[in-house]
Amino acid sequence: MATYGIPVLVLKEGTSRTYGREALRANILAARALAEVLRTSLGPKGLDKMLVDSFGDITVTNDGATIVKEMEVQHPAAKLLVETAKAVDAEVGDGTTSAVVLAGALLARAENLLDQNIHPSIIIEGYKKAAEKAVEILEEVADRVNIGLETSEEIERSKPILRELAYAALASKYISSPDIIDHFIDLVVEAVITVAEKRPEGGYLVRTDNIKVEKKKGASLAESRLVKGIVLDKEVVHPGMPKRVERARIALLDAPLEIEKPDITAKINITSPDQIKRFLDEETRLLKEMVDKIVSVGANVVICQKGIDDVAQHFLAKRGILAVRRVKRSDMEKLERATGGRIVTSIRDLTEKDLGYAELVEERRVGNDKMVFVEGCKNPKAVTILVRGANDMLLDDAERSLNDAINALRNALREPKVLPGGGAPEVEVALGLRKWAETVGGKEQLAVLAFADALEEIPVILARSAGMDPLEVLMELRRLHAAGNKYAGINVIEGKIEEDMRKLKVLDPLTVKKQIIRAATEAATAILKVDDLIAASPLKKEGKEKKEEEEGETKTMSKPELD
Ligand code: ADP
Ligand code: MG
Repeated sequence: MATYGIPVLVLKEGTSRTYGREALRANILAARALAEVLRTSLGPKGLDKMLVDSFGDITVTNDGATIVKEMEVQHPAAKLLVETAKAVDAEVGDGTTSAVVLAGALLARAENLLDQNIHPSIIIEGYKKAAEKAVEILEEVADRVNIGLETSEEIERSKPILRELAYAALASKYISSPDIIDHFIDLVVEAVITVAEKRPEGGYLVRTDNIKVEKKKGASLAESRLVKGIVLDKEVVHPGMPKRVERARIALLDAPLEIEKPDITAKINITSPDQIKRFLDEETRLLKEMVDKIVSVGANVVICQKGIDDVAQHFLAKRGILAVRRVKRSDMEKLERATGGRIVTSIRDLTEKDLGYAELVEERRVGNDKMVFVEGCKNPKAVTILVRGANDMLLDDAERSLNDAINALRNALREPKVLPGGGAPEVEVALGLRKWAETVGGKEQLAVLAFADALEEIPVILARSAGMDPLEVLMELRRLHAAGNKYAGINVIEGKIEEDMRKLKVLDPLTVKKQIIRAATEAATAILKVDDLIAASPLKKEGKEKKEEEEGETKTMSKPELD
């Protein structure tokens, strides 16, 4: 208490503080502004965003996850939404745009409720209940898909379903020429079938890190292909080495095949030519020893994360060993899993047991470059999609799209249930929620109704992107769903209402839809809970340092991504 009229200062000088309704409004506004940016990117006719980062690098995409990752968002509430989007992306790899858009819609509706003097805590409670109910409804209306990958008949029967699922994920992306999409779908379906493992509790587990996407500039997207094995963007280090080794026994080294020079500067006094020779001989002897060791355990291929000295290269070549150097750590780990080998950090410790196996290791020409292919691995659950394309932008977008499709299949296989797309489930859930709302008493009922309205934002945006009248579309969809047609949705490509979205092969995995609803609700309620925004005054520093500092301040919401 400030008695005697002396003010008590709690906050540092220059700290700005907004609280109560004002803070809440400011946060909602910021979060909605971000959602507004993403709205137009939703769906197959979603528009692209062109993003320029502080280094001047340009990204053009309509992928929600990429947009929020590239955008430098300032406001803490908007940052919270960005984190939500990233979490959705990490969890299911799809549905980011929808999650952000839905969170924005939930907040917009919440604002209306606030205007009617409904307390935030009531809105929060209502939203949470509505989300739970929404997920329940989704589980009810979702269709089980019959996917089996045990026998070749089962696989043949499941392929068309998998293709449809992959199609839904790819169709709304950049690579939209139909034959390219077809080709990419073939690649993804084949890759996923190869790596899928049956889960004891039902469904299949797809470890996405078993599928490597390797980009190589040149040629066209149509020439992208699937390699059963690992492709390294590296050349064989020495021209005297074999370019092809069958029944490869592979040493995976995380140790340099070099004589490590000490960090400290040492002075060596050499007084005669003889001494120089002895000095160099000693180096050569050590390198030869290393190579001898590799030969003695029976390796005929060396894949090294570090460097390989010229002299060592020469010795390896003489022994007919194929060697590759400076391989990325992530690739080393993939090779470890694929070949059944073990990465060894000291050559002295290398044993026969550490060697990996592949039927073939071969350097091949890809475009203007050479790449090393490791095929017929001990563990056949390791594949690479080698993506070709004319420029980096095309390649990056192709990679993102492939990952989306891979994730869609992973999600569908984990819990093999799907929902029709094109706004159908949103209208269906909204309908169910409105009915259920009657059983929810008090003002919370209003929040549940608001939740239902917010969900319909998705079909509204899809209709608008298709050049249709959103309100008309919504009314018609509501009518169809009320009449029991749960598959009615929007054919965005042709700009008309489709009574059965399954015919269009637009399907979304249940897991993704559930994740969208949960994440959006979490983000919206988190923002509604805040009633005080206390921001320290930004430190006056220059350039990057300043940026780091500012990011540091909000680190509970967003980890600064520095590279
Ligand atoms: P997100 O980042 O949320 O996945 P997308 O841009 O992939 O955003 O859009 C997904 C939405 O677009 C889903 O609601 C999906 O059902 C819908 N959609 C995708 N393809 C079609 C299509 N051909 N017709 C109608 N709706 C589609
Ligand atoms: Mg998507």
